[in-house]
Amino acid sequence: MKFELVDSLRGAPDETLLEDLRRSAKAIGRDTITIAEYGEVGKAHPCTIQRRFGSWPKALELAGLQPSRSKIGISDEELFENIKSLWISVGRQPRYSEVKTPLSLFSAGTYEKRFGSWSKALREFVEWVNADSPNQSTNTDEELDVARTTYNDSTKRRSRREISDRQRFRILVRDGFRCKACGASPLNLPGTELHVDHILPWSKGGETIDENLETKCKQCNLGKGNAFIS
Ligand SMILES: [Zn+2]
Repeated sequence: MKFELVDSLRGAPDETLLEDLRRSAKAIGRDTITIAEYGEVGKAHPCTIQRRFGSWPKALELAGLQPSRSKIGISDEELFENIKSLWISVGRQPRYSEVKTPLSLFSAGTYEKRFGSWSKALREFVEWVNADSPNQSTNTDEELDVARTTYNDSTKRRSRREISDRQRFRILVRDGFRCKACGASPLNLPGTELHVDHILPWSKGGETIDENLETKCKQCNLGKGNAFIS
């Protein structure tokens, strides 16, 4: 199968090959792609690309993609971000057998090597997600500053309005990836877009804390906005 496709793109114009590189990167949800990944989802053989453009990095550059990093250089942060995306894709805790392309950027083996086992990786991941809570943040000085002032009644400063990715994820998990108003979920209604938003709007004094956040589908979320105006 693969070899028929290779032959079909071997004589293709440069732009067709570059376009397929971009399409493949998009298909795996990234702004770059490795030779191995392209070998799985690309229409041409990676060798065709390398030969045409001189090297893999050169082809990525011409396609307007980011340079790919070696798997050895993957940070814990990237591994956790990937679990988060995977969790959102399947709408629940990902199973060991699901830790593979196309949903996952990294294999289960990568997690086993780093954390000892998939279940240990999940445990570390949950800690990472929870470490984002404003009262236990250990990240930047700015975040610590916000955390301090959030719990200080003597100041008018409040929690930041923006909901972080990790907090959003925590709320989605807490709410079971379902709209709190109508129950719609990507699991029972494919294409459902879930939003995490303030219950009491930030503009009306609502804080960006888990207790004041909830999951709503796009439709119900828009409806809520109107309800507060009327
Ligand atoms: Zn809804």
